[in-house]
Amino acid sequence: MAETSFERYLEQLGKPLQYAMRNNFAQLSKLRDFEPYVRYQIRTLESLKMLPAEWLPLLQELSQAVKSFDTLSLAQKQQRMRQVHDLIGHMRSVVTQAAPTGVAAPAAQPAPASEPAQVPVKTRQAPPAAPARSEPPSDPFQQSVQYLRGVGPKRAALLAKLNLRTVNDLLWYLPARYEDRRRLTPLGTLQVGQRQTFYGKVYTTQTVPQRRGKPIFTMTLEDDSGTLTCKWFKAQTYMQERFAIGARVVGSGMITVNSYNASREAVHPDLEVLEEEDGDLIHFGRLVPIYPLTAGLHQKTLRTIMKSVIDAYAPQIEETLPHEMRRDHALPTLQEAVQQVHFPDAHLDLGQLHQHQTPFHQRLIFEEFFLLELGLALRQRATQREQRAAPYRQPNHLGETLQSQLPFRLTTAQQRVLDEVLDDMQRPFPMNRLIQGDVGSGKTVVALLAMLMAVSNGFQAAIMAPTEILAEQHAATLRTLLEPLELDVALITGSLKGRIRREQLERVACGQAKIVVGTHALIYDEVQFHRLGMIVVDEQHRFGVLQRATLRNKGLTPDVLVMTATPIPRTLSMTLYGDLDLSVIDELPPGRLPVQTKVLRAGRRDQAYRRIRREVSRGQQVYIVYPLVEESESLDLGAAVEMAAQLQQEVFPDHRLGLLHGRLSSEDKDAIMRAFKQRELDILVCTTVIEVGVDISNATVMVIENAERFGLAQLHQLRGRVGRGADQAYCLLIAGDKLSKEGRQRLLVMQESSDGFYVAEQDLQIRGPGELLGTKQAGLPELHVGNLLHHGIWLEQARRAAFALIEADPGLSQPGHQPLRYAVSTRWRDRFELAAIG
Ligand code: ADP
Ligand code: MG
Repeated sequence: MAETSFERYLEQLGKPLQYAMRNNFAQLSKLRDFEPYVRYQIRTLESLKMLPAEWLPLLQELSQAVKSFDTLSLAQKQQRMRQVHDLIGHMRSVVTQAAPTGVAAPAAQPAPASEPAQVPVKTRQAPPAAPARSEPPSDPFQQSVQYLRGVGPKRAALLAKLNLRTVNDLLWYLPARYEDRRRLTPLGTLQVGQRQTFYGKVYTTQTVPQRRGKPIFTMTLEDDSGTLTCKWFKAQTYMQERFAIGARVVGSGMITVNSYNASREAVHPDLEVLEEEDGDLIHFGRLVPIYPLTAGLHQKTLRTIMKSVIDAYAPQIEETLPHEMRRDHALPTLQEAVQQVHFPDAHLDLGQLHQHQTPFHQRLIFEEFFLLELGLALRQRATQREQRAAPYRQPNHLGETLQSQLPFRLTTAQQRVLDEVLDDMQRPFPMNRLIQGDVGSGKTVVALLAMLMAVSNGFQAAIMAPTEILAEQHAATLRTLLEPLELDVALITGSLKGRIRREQLERVACGQAKIVVGTHALIYDEVQFHRLGMIVVDEQHRFGVLQRATLRNKGLTPDVLVMTATPIPRTLSMTLYGDLDLSVIDELPPGRLPVQTKVLRAGRRDQAYRRIRREVSRGQQVYIVYPLVEESESLDLGAAVEMAAQLQQEVFPDHRLGLLHGRLSSEDKDAIMRAFKQRELDILVCTTVIEVGVDISNATVMVIENAERFGLAQLHQLRGRVGRGADQAYCLLIAGDKLSKEGRQRLLVMQESSDGFYVAEQDLQIRGPGELLGTKQAGLPELHVGNLLHHGIWLEQARRAAFALIEADPGLSQPGHQPLRYAVSTRWRDRFELAAIG
């Protein structure tokens, strides 16, 4: 019976855990090779043909959980082991729930049970036993490039520099461009002033020494129609040998006229010498692919390797997309697409090839997006399979009471988003939703009203902030707002110690605290909830299957609401948060004046100081921000401390300055923030710890030093710290001395617009998606052909198709869907791992 065989795999996977977790981790320090062991088990599972598709996202999480295991501290190891343990439990419950019928584990798999030698534990009694290193049943596409014809260890090392390790890597290593060598112009008819492609035999060669510098190398080619001289101003020693008399050469270059003898020549042409055995169709007489190279690897060598790989392996590629889907989207087969993208047929259009607009490129784009979205759909499904602990039967009476007492009315957008959230909360499975809203759009109050829905139904609700400062701010805000309702708000942060901490924990555990505020350690630490019904994650933590599994293991299946102010264009957020439903607050509360923004050169800093004095004299407050230098907090610290002292003494002797930076203890941070909030300070000098979420409406000036060092999204966040009240606010961006043209262009975007989405779009145009979001935050998988900015339409189509498919066949168990399941699990394994960081 299938269940039992899956059980056995899980049991095998869990063995080292049992060993290490026994007696409160007594043996943990003896555990060796845990990561490779788990990875090996994951690969084994992935190679099972009948693997439940629900496991795929869990396996991704699992591999994430053991990442760099050996480098972790014991405490971290314990935490990771608990996560792994929870995940395995989760996997078990998935198969038990699914209760597959007639599913059998493949006979080819070795029975995994009772092979203690595989458990990766080194003790004196049990001799060291590394996990088996062998790969699961050989997959031709996973073969190492080294054993391909014409490769060998040396070239394999070169290819590895390009991250080309397997046959599959090569198949997806696409040409950067193509060269039109369809028509070879006879040497006698080459047109001067044009770039032309030609073919000829080497007739003479000559190395002419120069008085100064390297010798000049010339070579004459001939064919039946005439001759052409090729010239290099810096002869290389190998040239004489490479271009032997009689060698056949194909090349392309700009044709010019030699001013002495009026003969035609090509200076520094691209040339390739043809070997006897070269099939003529690879390097000329066709549209020729040009691949990105690395030092020591010739274009022609790589192209030859590519040709033999495509010829040998492309015909073996199994079609991934179901027939109807290819028909609906008019897509060629995967085999054809791979072949044509590398070695296009002569009738294809060069322009279309370069712009990736051939049907073959589009097929590959669709494929990439589709598999990506399929993975996301599976993740989403993993949440939706959960049942909520108890249905919500009560209306949101607490929320309604609070809403009627708010000093303002919700904006239309806030109300719409609140309704979407409350709708989710009345469904049978837990909510998994993202609220996106520009800085100051009022996300907190929406979240609070939703949390009260959970409380109205007898549950607790928690909100997690990215920093302690923000957690404290949230706690203060919520306590004030909730005063009329007499609800108990607990605050739990890492720095809270001793009796106070115990007391807070106790109030959470017994259920007296209905609302719990903290950092994201909330879900891991020893925090026990009485009845947790909802978690709000402020300012984008990743909250994935893993965290859910942890909670589920505590018997909790809460609604999850993630909130972010990072304005991400829709196509990107679909991928970044593809497993979440999306709500957007696209409206600011009325009466807000846009922040007046100005870019200043360092020499005009005085202007900023004048503005500061004027505002402070009107009773307003000011932030001055210094950037992190090279991520090193100490340098940053030095700059900020020094500047603060100097500013106080020389520039603002009459004003009250405070300094806030990441190295302060949280009590000190807290004290300074409180002083600023209570207007005991006029000017707050700070590093970027201030960045997200801080809400002090009396502050009207934001000065940012070395503004070019920040990303636009970050600048927008910082700017959002002012302009939160009714007064006109100012943001002054002071550029460093060495401002590039591009840097200036970026800063001017800030001056142009106060709309976060506009700013983000511009940033994307200038810098591309990876940088805008920062690799860590982005978790964007690396795509070969698909471009999330330019191929938005394909992305949407692929997403719709993928989600529809998972809806129709959640386990990807229909016979036609086997190759898809395999593709999701193998081809994208590493990329999903990337996506899980952060
Ligand atoms: P963010 O979306 O950036 O987290 P906050 O939730 O911190 O924004 O809200 C910013 C400020 O706007 C807060 O001081 C909040 O009280 C106020 N606010 C929220 N909604 C409204 C509204 N509908 N009308 C007026 N002010 C509002
Ligand atoms: Mg906020």
